[in-house]
Amino acid sequence: EGIITPEIFRAMMQRAGDEIIAERDWLSELDGVIGDGDHGVTMEIGWKAVQGALANAEEDETIEGSCKRMAKAFLDAVGASSGPLYATAFLRAGAAVSDRLNLDAEALAAWLAAALQGVRDRGRAEPGDKTMIDAWVPAVERAQQAAANGSELDVVNAARDGAEAGMKATADLESRRGRSAKLGARSKGHIDPGAASTWVTLRAMAAALAE
Ligand code: ADP
Ligand code: MG
Ligand code: MG
Repeated sequence: EGIITPEIFRAMMQRAGDEIIAERDWLSELDGVIGDGDHGVTMEIGWKAVQGALANAEEDETIEGSCKRMAKAFLDAVGASSGPLYATAFLRAGAAVSDRLNLDAEALAAWLAAALQGVRDRGRAEPGDKTMIDAWVPAVERAQQAAANGSELDVVNAARDGAEAGMKATADLESRRGRSAKLGARSKGHIDPGAASTWVTLRAMAAALAE
């Protein structure tokens, strides 16, 4: 049985919300360079809704149940393109661990992989298009490697480090999706804001689990 209980999972998500809110201005600045400048605000709105929804969770609510609650809260709160992307990610991630009470290393990697697949199915972006996918893909790859013989903390730390590397690498990419696509080659040299918020989220989950 894994160490991530539903209660610890919800604490990880609350922390993700806290760190997204703390990084709001940086995320909006990044979006101001290649998008419409609202990414920090849209993520803050979405994560505050998630935090409020999780605060109402029953004590015995499963991780899948909490993920459904998060998806609904995020979708209802966020009108920007990230709203349905994250809502689908949370729904799929929860469904991937529906047979679990607690998450072990493998289940955590499966949760992350399903979140990525949800974003891909919903947004249809490919790796290299300069989106949040470019942080999620290396995060999931490294998480799955770590899950082969590592702990839950190894998995989430690997995901965090993969997301950071992927985020940094988005600076070299030319955007082919979302608002920044109309900049074409001028989007080069700048980090994608959705990739940045992906890193912030995974970094916060790792920090919460380490405590
Ligand atoms: P909006 O562009 O509607 O203002 P946000 O600013 O909240 O929405 O989010 C922008 C981010 O959304 C981008 O930086 C990118 O990472 C991500 N994004 C946009 N379109 C897609 C897509 N089709 N698939 C995955 N991610 C996407
Ligand atoms: Mg935007
Ligand atoms: Mg917008």
